[in-house]
Amino acid sequence: STFKDLGLNEDLLQAISDLGFTEPSEVQQKAIPVLLEEDRDLVALAQTGTGKTAAFGFPMLQQIIIDSRTTQGLILSPTRELCLQITNEMKLYGKYCKGLNVVAIYGGASITDQAKQIKKGAQIIVATPGRMKDMISRNLVDISKITFSVLDEADEMLNMGFYEDITDILSHTPKDKSTWLFSATMPKEVAKIAKDFMHNPVEITV
Ligand code: AMP
Repeated sequence: STFKDLGLNEDLLQAISDLGFTEPSEVQQKAIPVLLEEDRDLVALAQTGTGKTAAFGFPMLQQIIIDSRTTQGLILSPTRELCLQITNEMKLYGKYCKGLNVVAIYGGASITDQAKQIKKGAQIIVATPGRMKDMISRNLVDISKITFSVLDEADEMLNMGFYEDITDILSHTPKDKSTWLFSATMPKEVAKIAKDFMHNPVEITV
């Protein structure tokens, strides 16, 4: 199938064409149609390098309301490098989504600068769990109205000891949001997060 067959809109198809992506990868073929349906949770077993960022990024970009400045999407990732990489990809994928603001939140950099960027209005935040929790506790960020959350490399985040931070962050989000979890492996802790925070997730493996 093609990206168009998967149901993506013209703004995204144009960006995909600019990037030179000729056909959707396996995880994209399996995940995108599911994630374009309303109120769908997803557990995807997928390694890095499979194109999973676009698999959750395109459906999120297509469904957020760009005209609003409210934060609608939250992507949690284990490391600063990955956080910056996802942010860059989301900006590329959303280059024709006029008014889109994607902000990266991670430790080891100025919290004041990050808070200033958030204040301008970010429809999508890409964050590492520690700094995100910190900013929530200082009231520097509001995720009470998000409609989409992504837990990327969930197994890595839990290996790094972020269980408490993740559950704390999720407790500040609406119960009826969609949650999309990506993980290379499915240890008990990941299954527990899926069981406790997700509603009948569709499961895919690539
Ligand atoms: P990821 O697994 O999300 O880290 O993606 C790995 C790399 O593949 C990134 O550099 C993407 O830009 C690229 N990529 C994602 N989807 C496609 C696609 N359908 N065709 C070609 N390259 C892709």
